[in-house]
Amino acid sequence: MKTGKLAHKFRVDNGKHFRLKDYDPAETGHWKSKEHAAEMLLEQVSRTADLQDKLYAQDEWALLLIFQAMDAAGKDGAIKHVMTGVNPQGCEVTSFKTPSARELQHDFLWRTTLQLPERGHIGIFNRSYYEEVLVVRVHKEALNNEKIPSSLMSKKIWDERFEDICCFERHMARSGTVIRKFFLYVSKKEQKKRFLERLDEPEKNWKFSAGDVHERAGWDDYQDAYEDMIRNTSTKHAPWYVVPADNKWFTRLVISTVIVDTLESLKLRYPKVDGAKRKELEGAKQGLLQEK
Ligand code: ATP
Ligand code: MG
Repeated sequence: MKTGKLAHKFRVDNGKHFRLKDYDPAETGHWKSKEHAAEMLLEQVSRTADLQDKLYAQDEWALLLIFQAMDAAGKDGAIKHVMTGVNPQGCEVTSFKTPSARELQHDFLWRTTLQLPERGHIGIFNRSYYEEVLVVRVHKEALNNEKIPSSLMSKKIWDERFEDICCFERHMARSGTVIRKFFLYVSKKEQKKRFLERLDEPEKNWKFSAGDVHERAGWDDYQDAYEDMIRNTSTKHAPWYVVPADNKWFTRLVISTVIVDTLESLKLRYPKVDGAKRKELEGAKQGLLQEK
């Protein structure tokens, strides 16, 4: 399968008929094993590095990558992988946890807006404003903490949030921030296996928190919320990718491919040197060569 096809396969840019059950968390395309995919993964990492160099030099576009998933779906590992070979000077990762008291004093897009990537940079959101239609929807008490005036708390609040998010993303796209959103789709069975590993292996114990099991209890509500989110916020300029996540190596392969494809579609180029600049460079070169 060509890389372009692989990226396209999991892309949702019109969510109207989206159903989670049309996707299989265990899918690995025609790749049979980690070893089989290793060479391609390496190639993607080096292409990402080259493209990022141009993105930075050109200083016009920004790339925002958003990661959402159930616990233990492999967000952290996938982000670590994306970062391999990338110049840290042009890339920022931000993790969003339960909002602080200060953050709750503002609208729900405030804290993430402060962390958006500047031109030439790649920004990675480990969780994002999408938590506002996921955890906040599943746990209604989180919505009550947000101090929204009661007259604005209508039954349509989730549709209103979808609409606000879409408008915000369209605005960002029109300003030159390219947005790609990844839902790492792990199965309930695989999550259980990974939780048990976290409990059994001492070096993985730190990754486990009792709250994770509590969230697992709301599995079906979360799946419904994810489905509705993807249905309502998939657009051409900010598509979702439903990435199979039961095999970590395949997750990484799909994500890398999407990033390479996206950056290539921007036709990035190093800034052109004009006549005056060329003269300046030539002068500097002569100066250096004539140094004693
Ligand atoms: P992760 O679970 O992302 O790997 P972590 O385990 O280090 O990270 P947690 O303490 O689990 O960190 O923090 C993430 C938690 O914060 C998640 O349960 C998430 O649902 C919650 N959270 C994130 N954004 C919001 C939000 N806007 N409102 C309420 N809860 C949120
Ligand atoms: Mg957690």
